[in-house]
Amino acid sequence: MRCRIHPQRGGAGVAYAEAVIPVFDGHNDTLTSEGRGGIGAGRADGHLDLPRMRAGGMRGGIFAVFTPSPGEDEGPLKLAAGAAGAFAKPLAAPVPHPVAAADATAAAGRLARLEREGLLTVAREIGDVDAAFADPAAPPVAVLHLEGAEAIDSGLEALEHWHAAGLRSLGPVWSRANAFATGVQFAFPSSPDIGPGLTAAGRALVGACAELGILVDLSHLNEAGFWDVAGLEAGPLVASHSGAHAVAAASRNLTDAQLDAIAASDGLVGIVFAAPFLRPDFADDPATPLALIVEHARYVADRIGSRHVALGSDFDGATIPAELGDVAGLPKLLEALAAAGFDAEQLADVGWRNWRRVLDAWWR
Ligand code: ZN
Repeated sequence: MRCRIHPQRGGAGVAYAEAVIPVFDGHNDTLTSEGRGGIGAGRADGHLDLPRMRAGGMRGGIFAVFTPSPGEDEGPLKLAAGAAGAFAKPLAAPVPHPVAAADATAAAGRLARLEREGLLTVAREIGDVDAAFADPAAPPVAVLHLEGAEAIDSGLEALEHWHAAGLRSLGPVWSRANAFATGVQFAFPSSPDIGPGLTAAGRALVGACAELGILVDLSHLNEAGFWDVAGLEAGPLVASHSGAHAVAAASRNLTDAQLDAIAASDGLVGIVFAAPFLRPDFADDPATPLALIVEHARYVADRIGSRHVALGSDFDGATIPAELGDVAGLPKLLEALAAAGFDAEQLADVGWRNWRRVLDAWWR
């Protein structure tokens, strides 16, 4: 189909025409890297800031609060450059609750400051998401997310506080174990079926999230935990930043059976842009073609329908294809999806409406 997204030559840096397809992106690590500042005015490094969000049509997204494991202080993904063939990183070290609580409080504070300055709106209800969609001039909407629930005590008292502070999305684990569940370590080729399922505290956490209206995110959770969450039937199954295991056999990607369960629950997969999870060889290589993101999206759509495909970049948390570059490159991805057969309605779903649907379902 014809797609009215055409890049225009600008002066300094990016200057795309206003994207006709607003994007809600399911995962970024900008709050972790934003300690250096500059998201409002723009910055020379990183993948995401407000000027580039405007250029790329990104009007909303899930902003992760992530505390690195000891020795992982360079960020959530630190794979050997050019790593290929069989690869297994050990399960990352646990993070003690007091360490995570302090770190996460500071990161959430950075988001609160951006809201106070009028640069972003922190989503507390679905109307906040709709407002950002309706008005390109409004501040983009940010969903506050905990990537790994170590900042929450196992008695869940802090969850109430975090909800009051705007928390609306939570992944029980990053790629490590905690009081609630066990994440998958980065391994290739590997099934996601590594380690035990949810703990009793993990089951209580999912139930409390459903009660409060906090979306539960399954990216990084191992397969046993995934099926435990599915069995609780707390809400649509959502993997915010993952790929298809049939395309790239990484432990972080979703098997066909998991995809089918996501569809049955009316959930979604935010297709990740992180190079190792896209590629058939797990290389952490910026020369990874944009077409591989499209291949994962096409695979998931062909298997379970475009209603269950969305975007989950991992901006500022991973190596992404240089061809895409950063958030300003989103229109290129949408054009490539259009060229791969996604029609205008399907692109509107993938770009925004599917995320809107699952957020609304969890927040009711
Ligand atoms: Zn992640």
